Amino acid sequence: MTFSLIWLPKVLKDAGLKVAEQPGWQTRGHGDVDDIKGVICHHTAGPLNGNMPSLGIVTNGRPDLSGPLSQLCLGRDGTYFVVAAGRAFHAGAGSWQGISSGNSSFIGIEAENSGFVSGPKAEFPWPTIQMNAYVRGCAAILAHIKAEPIMCCGHKEYALPKGRKNDPTFNMDVFRLEVGKIMSGTAPAPELIPASDGAKRPTLRRPASGELVKLIQTKVGVSDTGTFDGTTEAAIRRFQRLHGLVPDGIVGPKTWAALSGA
Ligand SMILES: [Zn+2]
Repeated sequence: MTFSLIWLPKVLKDAGLKVAEQPGWQTRGHGDVDDIKGVICHHTAGPLNGNMPSLGIVTNGRPDLSGPLSQLCLGRDGTYFVVAAGRAFHAGAGSWQGISSGNSSFIGIEAENSGFVSGPKAEFPWPTIQMNAYVRGCAAILAHIKAEPIMCCGHKEYALPKGRKNDPTFNMDVFRLEVGKIMSGTAPAPELIPASDGAKRPTLRRPASGELVKLIQTKVGVSDTGTFDGTTEAAIRRFQRLHGLVPDGIVGPKTWAALSGA
């Protein structure tokens, strides 16, 4: 049977977000949800490379916990992956605004992030394009269920006992302020990566191809196939981290400038 959260892709698409519906999502769930009261924001604590490497685990679960582990995944490039329309095991024990039935009452969003704020695995601050999609996706869902921004919480805020979870790594009070601005229509237009830089070099990302991709591949030390694939993207994220850039795997003006000096 089809579960209740069948509206998720349309609500996200209507908010201008990129959406990838996963096979079987409509009937995936540990039974159905109850009345949805809000959203719990998570990070995957997954691998540093790739756009959404934790998608399989969130969909199918892990040895100690069967999937789905959330209804939505949010990739580093801001794409929402719709995993399940039913109930997901994402919340565990906890409480937010007096509601302790987490899995039945909250939609879970697992955003790909290493979960580290310092050290060799650090992924902080988060890519702008991903944070922007996180805020806009939560705002769209809350507007749809007619809830206030306060009904969007972090797993670290929901989970009990206190300190059981640390996700997500960003400040939830600031996040809710941003969600509120979107909901009230007072947010500025999203900061988009320009389509090209001052030297007219186009912004490139997966699945671009051509001579400029070959040039990028040579600069970041992968074979110059001319196809912007996952290996290329991973190498660019590494390069961006080394050069103090946001590791979004997209070659925009700032990354072009750094590549030119490489
Ligand atoms: Zn979590």
